[in-house]
Order: sequence, then structure tokens, then C-alpha cells
Amino acid sequence: MEMQVSLVWSKAREQLSETLPRDVFERWIAVIQPESLSADTMVLSVANDFYQTWLEENYLPLIRKAVSAVCGLPMQIQLTVDATRSSLPARPVEKAPRRKPTGPASASPNLNAAYTFENFIVGSSNSLGHAASLAVADSPAHAYNPLFLYGGTGLGKTHLMQAIGNHVVPRSRLSVFYTSCEAFTNSYIDALQRKALVDFRKRFRGYDVLLIDDVHFLAGKEGLQEEFFHTFNALYESRKQIVLTCDRPANEIPAIEHRLVTRFEWGMVAELEPPDVETRIAILRQKQLQCSLQLPDEIIHFIAEIIRSNIRSLEGALTRVVSYASLTQKQVTLETVEYLLRDKIDQAQKETLSAEAIQRAVADHYDIRLGDMTGRQRSQSIALPRQVAMYLCRTLTNQSLPTIGERFGRNHATVIYSCRQVAEKMKTDTALRQTVGVLKQRLMRG
Ligand code: ADP
Ligand code: MG
Repeated sequence: MEMQVSLVWSKAREQLSETLPRDVFERWIAVIQPESLSADTMVLSVANDFYQTWLEENYLPLIRKAVSAVCGLPMQIQLTVDATRSSLPARPVEKAPRRKPTGPASASPNLNAAYTFENFIVGSSNSLGHAASLAVADSPAHAYNPLFLYGGTGLGKTHLMQAIGNHVVPRSRLSVFYTSCEAFTNSYIDALQRKALVDFRKRFRGYDVLLIDDVHFLAGKEGLQEEFFHTFNALYESRKQIVLTCDRPANEIPAIEHRLVTRFEWGMVAELEPPDVETRIAILRQKQLQCSLQLPDEIIHFIAEIIRSNIRSLEGALTRVVSYASLTQKQVTLETVEYLLRDKIDQAQKETLSAEAIQRAVADHYDIRLGDMTGRQRSQSIALPRQVAMYLCRTLTNQSLPTIGERFGRNHATVIYSCRQVAEKMKTDTALRQTVGVLKQRLMRG
């Protein structure tokens, strides 16, 4: 059961880190320790009653929601104080790179020890990325430089990148540093404000192996791209290994300087694709080894069928099913799994944007009722949002004019007319143009 507690908590933590601002997460959530788990309660501990009170007053509902989502059951949270952890946990401090003394070293503190090559399942969707990463890990700066890994979220980019670090650290005296592009940016801004750019540059140009995750973050940030360009050149020229990941090919990053794109493509470019069903099954089997309970093959196959495009959701699905099974002590059936994973199934079906999602977003934005989208009101304050929603349906989905008309309780001619109206108005009305832009972005991000 102990394994189970930490597994559930690590998944819930992950969810919370996605919903909470980073500083809030670091300060209030990262310091929580999981203690125990029963059929309906998770016990968590913090270092003192100050944390306990603050969390209870501010974040308990969110934590409860996250834990319940992971378990697939409504869960209660109990917060306790663990006096043995009296001092406040120190925030992780980034240290300047230093040559390590001889002798085997422990993994770099900013690498996740679980992200190793041993734990990475290789299939046709990721074999190129895996081989290239292994080659780089075996001879940094001699195999491929830079290594540029790209692919959709949850496909193993961060895992592979950190596996390189975890491979290099115990086998050499090279200094390895992993950072997200966002954290790199924050250090840069910080250095600018403290007038400490010299130190910043010295630090980042001193690593032997620099791993920078999610470089699509550079999109549209000119000053940052300039600094990044110089960091890249300095490292490259002194034959240091650079590894980069991105959620898309380099030339598809919006508003990025051409000279950066060329550099990103100098070495090896490898795409990570969504895993095929055999790989998904192999991943589930491997992840299951860490769980207290083994699921029948039939169930494993079923989960692999449902969750297709993202390995992180695949893990989340497995955790949920295993938690449910071990908490209820019931035999899980296919129907139960289907029920437990219903939101993930919906998610997959909603891959194409629905007219309703658009109507909802537009109604929210203009603060009108969803019913007004299909209603008969002609006042401008309702008619304009309705037209905007039709325009967005027309531009963001593949639905036909009659289908869109139907969703708004109107005919296709009205849709054509509305779209024209909006397009025409946008030519002169900057505010409307901006509104449409914001809505588009929000909807595309899902
Ligand atoms: P990305 O950085 O591409 O969004 P991650 O590297 O964070 O994705 O991977 C998401 C989760 O899936 C991680 O927990 C990772 O360990 C796991 N994972 C991804 N690919 C594999 C694989 N081939 N074998 C085992 N686990 C994997
Ligand atoms: Mg990642």
C-alpha cells in the first residue's frame, strides 16, 4: 500500500502543478508529504501548523479534487503535522557548475531519477529519438550536437532528455544541467534585474551538457532569443553538448528567428510520435510493476485501446484503475474501467472542437447566457456575440454551413451573412479583432 500512497500523491501533485501558479505550487504543495491512504481518506502531512491552517483554509478543496480525480472515487483529505520535519524545507538552489571530484557521483539534483533509459520502452514511434539520445549520452558533444527532440505532449521528450543526464552523471566528470526553457528565461530576467548578466552567462556557458526543455517557449520573445542564440553559440563553439526539446518542428515555432531554427537543425533532429498499441501495452505492463496490484491482461489491453495519444494520460488511467481496484478490493471489470475512464474517453472524442464549446466560450466572454446563442433576441449586445460564435465555428471547425446553422437554430444563409458581417467589422474594429483573436487562442488551446 505504501507504494500506492506515493503514486497517487505524485499524480495528484502533477495535476495541481498544472492548475496552480508556480510559486504557489512550490510554496504550498511541494512541501506536503503523503502519509497513508484508505478506502475514502488520504492523510497528508506538513511540517507545522502554520502550513496546516493555511492549506486547510485555501487549498483543501483543490487538493481533494485532485486526489479524487486520480483515484476515481470521492476522497477526503486529512492534514496532519509531522513535528519531525520542523524546519521549513529549503527551496532548491541552483548551483554554479563545478567540475565534480573523481569517483562515482549521484545523479544531478535537478534530474528525476526515474527518467532513465532502463525505464523507457522503445517502440517504432520513438526508436529514432531513443537511439539518438543513447548515442549522445554515450559520447556527449561527439555524436550529434545539438540533439533536437520534438513531438506532442506526454510522448517522452522530458524523459529521454533527462535519461541522457542520468546516464552521463555517474559515468563521467562532466557537469550536467537540466532546465526548462521557462526557468532559463526566469533566470535571465532575474539576472537582467540584478545587473548580473555576466554571472548568468558564465553559469550557462560553463556546463558540459546543457539540457533545455520545451524551447517552443521562445516563441515571439525577441530579447530572449538573442540571449539564447549567444548561449547556444558559446556552448557549441567550446564543444559542449546541447539537447533541446520542443512540441513541434523548429521551423514551426511562431515568430522565431531564422538563425535559431538553422542552429536547432545543425545536429540531429528526431521526432517522437504517438505510440502504437503494442508499445502502449508494454508501457502499461512496465508501469504496473511499480503498483501493489496486477491487473488482468484483458484490462491492460482495454486501457491501451482507450488511451491512444499520450503516455502521461496512459499512466494516469492506469493509476486510477489500480487505485480503484486496491481501495475497493473489488475485481475490476471492463465496465468498471470504462466508467472510471469516462472523462478520458470523452476527451478523445472531443478532439475536434464542438460548436457548443465555441458557443460557451463566446457567451462566457461577452457575459451572456448560453441560451442566447440559439435564442431570437436581436439586440446588438446579443446579436454580435452570436455572429462571432458562428464566425468561429466556420473558421475553427470543419462543420458544414447547414450543420453550423442548425447548432444556432438558423439556416445556412444566416451563417454566411453573419460570417461576412464579422469579417467586415474586423477590418475597422480593432477591439473586435482582438476579441476574436483571444477567443481563437483560448479555443485552440482547448
Ligand atoms: P513530454 O516531455 O514529451 O511531454 P514526458 O517525458 O514528460 O513527456 O513523458 C510523460 C510520462 O510518460 C512520463 O512519466 C514518462 O516517464 C512516461 N513515458 C513517456 N514515454 C515513455 C516510454 N517510452 N516508456 C516509458 N514511459 C514513458
Ligand atoms: Mg516535457
